[in-house]
Amino acid sequence: LAYNSMDLFSTEIQFTDWLAKQSAGKARGLRLGIGDDAALVEPRRGFQWVVTTDLSVEGVHFSARLHPPEAVGHRAVARSLSDVAAMGGEPRFALVSLALSRRVKRPWIKAFFAGAIGLARGHRVKLVGGDTALNAGQTVADVTVLGEVPRGEALLRSGARPGDQICVAGELGDSALGLRLLKASVSPRSPSTREAVRAHLYPEPQCGLGVFLARRRIASAAIDLSDGLSTDLRRLTQASKAGARIWADRIPAPAAPAGDEERDALLALALHGGEDYKLLFTVPLSRMELVPKRFNRTVIYRIGEIEHRRLGVQIVQNGKAVPLKAQGYDHFRIG
Ligand SMILES: [Mg+2]
Repeated sequence: LAYNSMDLFSTEIQFTDWLAKQSAGKARGLRLGIGDDAALVEPRRGFQWVVTTDLSVEGVHFSARLHPPEAVGHRAVARSLSDVAAMGGEPRFALVSLALSRRVKRPWIKAFFAGAIGLARGHRVKLVGGDTALNAGQTVADVTVLGEVPRGEALLRSGARPGDQICVAGELGDSALGLRLLKASVSPRSPSTREAVRAHLYPEPQCGLGVFLARRRIASAAIDLSDGLSTDLRRLTQASKAGARIWADRIPAPAAPAGDEERDALLALALHGGEDYKLLFTVPLSRMELVPKRFNRTVIYRIGEIEHRRLGVQIVQNGKAVPLKAQGYDHFRIG
């Protein structure tokens, strides 16, 4: 922990003690938790570490105005958990670091960690370390997660082959819709509005599904949808040196109350919106019978097929196949 961070907690020791208390207890593979210079962890025999880290930057990934601190912490951890899920890993340990804007008050930090540790705990992930410091600029959170995967069984982006079916777990576009509603300060009247705002503020990474797809050797490739289907599908096809064709009418976009125009706008959110943190995975035809209709309560949708590379990435809409441009990633321009 950094030297100057803790006018917020009076002393750094106070903060370390507080954090250690938040993540107390034993965990398999944990030899030494918070309190020494570093943690000591080890994977099970025959397993590999899946290691990932993700930044959450104020003004880019969240805004102090729209996102309550619990949601900032939750989303910061969700980003990394979702990457572990996409690799078929079982998340085990997390490190959470915060560079804090000087505007931030102590209750914000506590609420941030409540959100972060709450989601981690729900996935049986132990917080084993982190760092905090004051920052002259915006608040930045960085979350590293270690997960375990049996040696050689990780799901990669590069394994998709022509003919493989493209599946997505759960509905797309809710998070982008929720952000839009938050920006417009629409008070959540209908259940679907509430659902969209919740999907944005508290996304649920699909770790159980990732493990299931890897252990049963169902998926040939996988990626998590963090930057939008159009962008992340392209990443998967590029890694696999393949193309893809998806069908617009199979994409589980938010339901349109009325009108074609609205339907197109909602489809655009599902294609390009981002931050859904659902898994996109490919399955050889011969393995499709192993794909359940639902995993827990999440519906699995078959939205397309991997094609030869020369086809590029196409979307079939109104009976016509057209190139699908990667328009994700710019999902979060606040202000
Ligand atoms: Mg990812």
